[in-house]
Amino acid sequence: MIVATGKSILNRIGIGKIKIYKAPEYKINEGLIEDPAHEVQRFNDAVQKAIDQQGVLYEKALQTAGEESAAIFEAHQMMLEDDDLQDAAREIITSQKRGAEYATKTAFDEYAQMFAEMDDPYMKARSADLIDVEMAVLDVLMGNDTDSLQGTEPSILVAEDLAPSETVKLDKSLLLGMITREGSSNSHTAILARSMNLPSLIQCKDIDDSWDGKLAILDGYNGCVYIEPTKDLIDSLTAKRNEDLKKEALLQELKGKPSVTLDGRKVRVYANIGGPSDLGSVHENDAEGVGLFRSEFVYLNSKEAPSEEEQFTAYKRVVETLAPKLVIIRTCDIGADKTIDYMNLDKEENPALGFRAIRICLTRKDFFKTQLRALLRASAYGNMGIMFPMIISRWEVVEAKAILEECKAELLREGHKIGKYELGIMVETPASVLCADELAEEVDFFSLGTNDLTQYTCAIDRQNAKLERFSDTHHPAVLKAIQMTVDAGHRHGAWVGICGELGADPTLTETFLRMGVDELSVNAKSVLPLRKIIRSTDLSKPAIKD
Ligand code: PEP
Ligand code: MG
Repeated sequence: MIVATGKSILNRIGIGKIKIYKAPEYKINEGLIEDPAHEVQRFNDAVQKAIDQQGVLYEKALQTAGEESAAIFEAHQMMLEDDDLQDAAREIITSQKRGAEYATKTAFDEYAQMFAEMDDPYMKARSADLIDVEMAVLDVLMGNDTDSLQGTEPSILVAEDLAPSETVKLDKSLLLGMITREGSSNSHTAILARSMNLPSLIQCKDIDDSWDGKLAILDGYNGCVYIEPTKDLIDSLTAKRNEDLKKEALLQELKGKPSVTLDGRKVRVYANIGGPSDLGSVHENDAEGVGLFRSEFVYLNSKEAPSEEEQFTAYKRVVETLAPKLVIIRTCDIGADKTIDYMNLDKEENPALGFRAIRICLTRKDFFKTQLRALLRASAYGNMGIMFPMIISRWEVVEAKAILEECKAELLREGHKIGKYELGIMVETPASVLCADELAEEVDFFSLGTNDLTQYTCAIDRQNAKLERFSDTHHPAVLKAIQMTVDAGHRHGAWVGICGELGADPTLTETFLRMGVDELSVNAKSVLPLRKIIRSTDLSKPAIKD
């Protein structure tokens, strides 16, 4: 038996034969051509055909993986339609007298390189998407048949890397798992694998062609794959897989049921989202609302600061689609790890402690007002919450509220409708915990950002992998800070939720309920598992101490 390790994308088990997936080779003729006009026409036709194909892939992904994942192919269409990119390729054909294949490869590679060199991890990941659309155009130009690579038997697919378009083209009924040598957990392929609920391993450096056709078990719990496993291992992991399948089927029965404890305590279980493309997962997992819409993704997805109209469209779509459910939109939380070129922010020594989030918004008032106006206009279409991030002082909340009032007055004068909304802040700094009593007097709700709260309370940089050993997600100081915040909020009539990753930790659900937490906002896939725990918890009985 061979054991190879990698990074698991999902806690699931896949059992079956390995199929080595080999992408077609792209041998590009670099010679000079005689008829540039003909090559330009070939290029134009191939791009158009690739755009059409992305449309077909969009429809297919919509059915198999949901709207969030399908949106990738819309983004691909936009990349292919980009005039600058197309012009760059046509320019190579006409000025350098090269074929359409060479021009496509050169121009698209250059753009992909540009993305790869960006600091922002989201933009970096877009480089893979560009290579993906490059392949789509090259496949058309070279007449490659990419549909017959998967074989006909159900298998665990092993590849160097898989592009989103390759992933979604795969026949899901033949797919028992996916293993790649490359890939990052932020990549769209990983996102697709997650939304397809597919056991997957990335960064598995030991994959080998000799595995082809051999029986394997992909163990997503332990981040490894066993080639030619022993009978005992097959038996125990088959049992574990069957248990998982049973549990998942049972979770579906919880859809439409309330998140209420055995003794009658109602807790709201909401989803965290990054934009309208995540609406599908909110529905699919029956989230009761959205506790954190990270609006900075609307900014990160844009080449320049999104206009009031663009933002209004995005916020309205989410609020209107989910009405009457509550949708809490956090105002732009950029800075630190989320940098945007068009903001022209200075490089800083300590960006996590630097010019970020509400500090930028209160300094660049016009920038802030554009977002607040869009939010207020969208509030007329449903049930909205507006939330300010990274608050440390009462005056920040007072000033942000004053700017909000200024926007409201302007919009009413201009004849816009404004709905009712709740107002809250993220509690994610020790300062806001310690001043929670006075902050609670200013707001309707608190939402605990435990990712940053842990980072600042424990002085552990959340980006630094070397600190893993010192990092304790259950650190008593963080748990105490949560309790203090809940108590302070409740003393002043503000409800208190958690929207950081800790909210999805099933081992803490009962603890949070006993602390009096009113809402948990988590990744959509965790909604039903948390509802299950809540529904089997009895707060009238004493807590079991370990
Ligand atoms: C947090 O800090 O816990 C949080 C939810 O915000 P983000 O992870 O976007 O900083
Ligand atoms: Mg935060």
